Amino acid sequence: MNNVLFDLHYSALIKMQQLLKPPMPKEVQFTFRKSDSTQFRDTLKDVRMRGIYSIIIDTKPENLPNLLTAILQIQMNNYKYHYHFTTFDIEAHNLENFRYNFVNMTAYRMVDSEHLMVKQVLRDMEKFQSVGQSILNRSNLEPALMYDSVFALARGLQALERGAVLRPVNVSCEDENPWNDGSSLFNYVNAAEYRGLTGKIQFKEGRRSTLKLDLLKLRTEKLDKVGEWSTTSGLNISNHEAFHEFGTRNITLRVTTIETIPYVMLKAGNHTGNDRFEGFCIELLQAIANYLGFQYELYFVPDSKFGAENTSTGEWNGLVREIIDKNADLAVASMTINYARESVIDFTKPFMTLGIRILFKLPSTMPTRLFSFMSPLAIDIWLYVLAAYILVSSTMFIVARFSPYEWHNPHPCVAESDVMENQFSMANSFWFTIVTLMHQGCDLNPKATSTRIIGAIWWFFTLILISSYTANLAAFLTVERMITPIESVEDLASQSKISYGTLESGSTMTFFRDSRIETYQKMWRYMENRPNVFVGSYEEGVARVLQGNYAFLMESTMLDYMVQRNCNLTEVGGLLDSKGYGIATPIGSPWRDKISLAILDLQEKGVIQILYNRWWKSGATTCSRDEKGKETKANALGLENIGGVFVVLLTGLAVAIFTAIFEFCWSTKKNAYNQRQSLCSEMAEELRFAMKCRASRQRPALRRQCSKCIPGTTYVPNAMDMNTQENGVMQMLDIRKSASPVHFECGDCRHHT
Ligand code: ASP
Repeated sequence: MNNVLFDLHYSALIKMQQLLKPPMPKEVQFTFRKSDSTQFRDTLKDVRMRGIYSIIIDTKPENLPNLLTAILQIQMNNYKYHYHFTTFDIEAHNLENFRYNFVNMTAYRMVDSEHLMVKQVLRDMEKFQSVGQSILNRSNLEPALMYDSVFALARGLQALERGAVLRPVNVSCEDENPWNDGSSLFNYVNAAEYRGLTGKIQFKEGRRSTLKLDLLKLRTEKLDKVGEWSTTSGLNISNHEAFHEFGTRNITLRVTTIETIPYVMLKAGNHTGNDRFEGFCIELLQAIANYLGFQYELYFVPDSKFGAENTSTGEWNGLVREIIDKNADLAVASMTINYARESVIDFTKPFMTLGIRILFKLPSTMPTRLFSFMSPLAIDIWLYVLAAYILVSSTMFIVARFSPYEWHNPHPCVAESDVMENQFSMANSFWFTIVTLMHQGCDLNPKATSTRIIGAIWWFFTLILISSYTANLAAFLTVERMITPIESVEDLASQSKISYGTLESGSTMTFFRDSRIETYQKMWRYMENRPNVFVGSYEEGVARVLQGNYAFLMESTMLDYMVQRNCNLTEVGGLLDSKGYGIATPIGSPWRDKISLAILDLQEKGVIQILYNRWWKSGATTCSRDEKGKETKANALGLENIGGVFVVLLTGLAVAIFTAIFEFCWSTKKNAYNQRQSLCSEMAEELRFAMKCRASRQRPALRRQCSKCIPGTTYVPNAMDMNTQENGVMQMLDIRKSASPVHFECGDCRHHT
């Protein structure tokens, strides 16, 4: 075939392929095969083995019947194949055996036998010769071209005759004398323009300048004109539908699949054919087949892999490979649609959506510990409580010493008594604080405003602390506490104790391999260096998770199924991505759109949901422990939970100290006035005394008031009253004997008199 003709047929084939599946791959590979008519079958077998589906056939018309028989014999006559014939008289051949199996057969024709003018010429010819049309078709184009060229010559001569008398002369082959009118005739022929049997005829510089070819395609009824090629506008396809036409009834598709619970499983017992399989995908396939009316024959993919591209060789494996090689018409499985796969095969619309998640073994319960009563509060809180206890007790002791209102006369009716006592000794202060912390009764009661503030704020503190402790202790004692070492994919990526992996040669593996996200890249580097983290099947992955110390990155749909059926399993973190499962077909397969429509319809009618419920919900065990574990998991209360109560306590202590200072100043000022002493010396004296908490137990009792005293009774201090201590209460004597005794008149003192 010469270059011009090759270009013509090649461009036709490419354009038709584009109609079937735009866009075309960037690179197109050509394979040229030369064969004589006895080897057609071997050549075709070789073409089939190489996976070539678009074939240009350039052969003599007399060889075509043999070739067509060979095509039928080796069954290369289905919708996957596209034959384009270079012969212009395809109509003259018997294509009856190819009409019903949707094989694509196209060719050009020059003579449009349906054209009125052509029909008229044929009728005229029949008058002279009984064969008529068969002259035009059976013996290829020559008669038609001959007819048109004679007509062109006739037109030229006619025109020449109009201007001059045509005088034919005898010309000799030996003489070199030209015919004078020859060049004029050439010009007139060149100028001729008319509608011939082979279309519009026009010349330019002695060559035919317009050529129009009809593109024919074999359809169920006959060869139909589906487009035109012309020298001016190239190829125009007028009937696009003709390229998407194919029947579904009585067609048996080869469907490949892979064993995955609960999508595709082998039934127990002895079954044959499609009966061997069961599962969600099998029922979905059956529903689609019923919908579209095709038959199918299922088989497992030989290498039991979903399919991933080998980055170094560019080769695919698994289901994807099976579809690329067109060994199967469909791949029906839990097959994820992703970019890399979509560039080499086609997918239908998704029938399920999902994302990658982490499957992990449910954490074991925390072992019971002897000191588990400590658990409700974090260790730092225990330390803070201890510090608060010491601080409050010391503050109570100091403030009580400073505050004049905490000093009282143990025998108010003894008028001359110089003994003053303060109930908040160091020991008593610590005792008061611990007793109130434990919510027990205590006979010590603060009297001064400052000490009362300390008491109140400490009680508030203990109230909150004890309530929080009690509440959390209940949670700790009733709930089995879960130890969850990982909570998210980031946790998984940042540790090395727990190993993790994916299914080998699946989309989950390629997700990590191709990801640009730092965390996933890091995880891929980890997995890449430890090939044993990849598993051959989901069952193997789940078994490894159950053995412990292994996290399996898998798709959420499958994960849900596993978790619902095994209470020792749990999912960790959220979805890492979002994608869908689709049915795979070879590129350009006419089944893709039909199956997509069927999927959408089945989805809208709820059929897919019913199938999902049947395979996921039934047989699921209720593992409520997962949820319970998450909701009621008790954590030790930390500073962030109850830190506020410490702030309140410190503020209260500060207020109490200021109040004590105020009380001290107020009382000293009053005493200084009564004693007629200077304020400074009185203050210094009182301060000195207050500071001598250990050195002296005595204190001048100069300022006393007793509202309960009755006039006329006098209390004389008893020697026994001096330097005695009862219940840890300090009594103090006035060391300044020179001071005149003060008389108390007190109703409580009657028993002393
Ligand atoms: N469904 C996945 C796939 O199509 C399998 C996986 O990687 O989890 O490859």
